[in-house]
Amino acid sequence: MNQRIVHGQTTSYEYDYLVIAAGTHTNFYGNDDMARKAFKLDNVDDANRICEAVQTSAFNTAIVVGGGYTGIEIATNLRRRLSSLNVSKQIVIVEASGSILNTLPEWMVRYVKENLAHLKVDVLVNSRVECIENNRVILSDGRVFDPSIVIWAAGVQTPPFVRDMKSEKAEQGRLNVTDYLQMEEHIFSIGDTTAFVDNGHPLRMAVQFAVAQGKLTGKNILRCLHGQGMRPYRSVDRGYIIPMANLHACGELMGVQCKGLPAIFMHYSMCIRRSLGLRKKMRMLRDLLKSLFGSGIVVS
Ligand SMILES: Cc1cc2nc3c(=O)[nH]c(=O)nc-3n(C[C@H](O)[C@H](O)[C@H](O)COP(=O)(O)OP(=O)(O)OC[C@H]3O[C@@H](n4cnc5c(N)ncnc54)[C@H](O)[C@@H]3O)c2cc1C
Repeated sequence: MNQRIVHGQTTSYEYDYLVIAAGTHTNFYGNDDMARKAFKLDNVDDANRICEAVQTSAFNTAIVVGGGYTGIEIATNLRRRLSSLNVSKQIVIVEASGSILNTLPEWMVRYVKENLAHLKVDVLVNSRVECIENNRVILSDGRVFDPSIVIWAAGVQTPPFVRDMKSEKAEQGRLNVTDYLQMEEHIFSIGDTTAFVDNGHPLRMAVQFAVAQGKLTGKNILRCLHGQGMRPYRSVDRGYIIPMANLHACGELMGVQCKGLPAIFMHYSMCIRRSLGLRKKMRMLRDLLKSLFGSGIVVS
């Protein structure tokens, strides 16, 4: 019989059932120099590092690499932060393809572009960050920003141990699974690490799927232990929202287009509902109230 063992850094553990829920992290596409010099946003520590840099570094331009959801959220929040510090700096989103949010409907892209323009966030498309020399950033089109800080939001991949696993994978190193979210009889994979295929495409990475998959897998393991059959995973997509820091947002909920304050309220209510612990929920509520009743973002 195969031994079922997971090796940690210092200890190894035997398991009856294994659930892989390791998420993803920033992908620098093998560019170690960029990984050393640019900021990223994988967790709260990363966010604190960016906030500190914004407050303490000498820079004229903050460059956000990647015009996807994460890049847009970072750029607008940088503007909010700088405005609260009463500081005026250039913010630039550098996007390699021909448009920001290039897989989303036209009306959303237009809405986001207008809001970015209002917040004085510049967008450069068909352009890449080539290198960072000291605080000097050079783009593929020859533009130079000096001095700058760079925040990299140009893609994610699964952690190395997942990529090293000898099993079938989809794009970004995500694990292929069965209808029961299984890779093998005793091994489940859920959340961002997993490429569950729905309507011919892997589900996008989102909290709603990760939480639902976690709940189902917990129940399925109990069912296995009681000798009962497992239930298949059926994804329910409630939609998505692109939140921006000045109470602007747009998206689609249950197939209905929404934008502006209703979209922001939906975003916050989902975040508050899904976050764990009263303290976190209260912090998010406080953040929303501060945005609603604070002095707003001043762009000079
Ligand atoms: C800036 C940003 C904004 C986002 N906004 C939204 C949003 O508005 N709505 C939405 O639905 N989704 C959003 N997402 C995506 C959402 O965060 C993910 O889809 C969700 O967190 C996935 O949950 P998960 O449990 O699969 O992985 P994660 O939440 O990433 O959790 C994985 C955990 O595993 C840990 N881990 C990794 N490797 C190992 C290892 N070898 N050993 C032990 N532990 C390990 C990681 O440290 C991490 O804590 C956002 C993501 C980012 C980065």
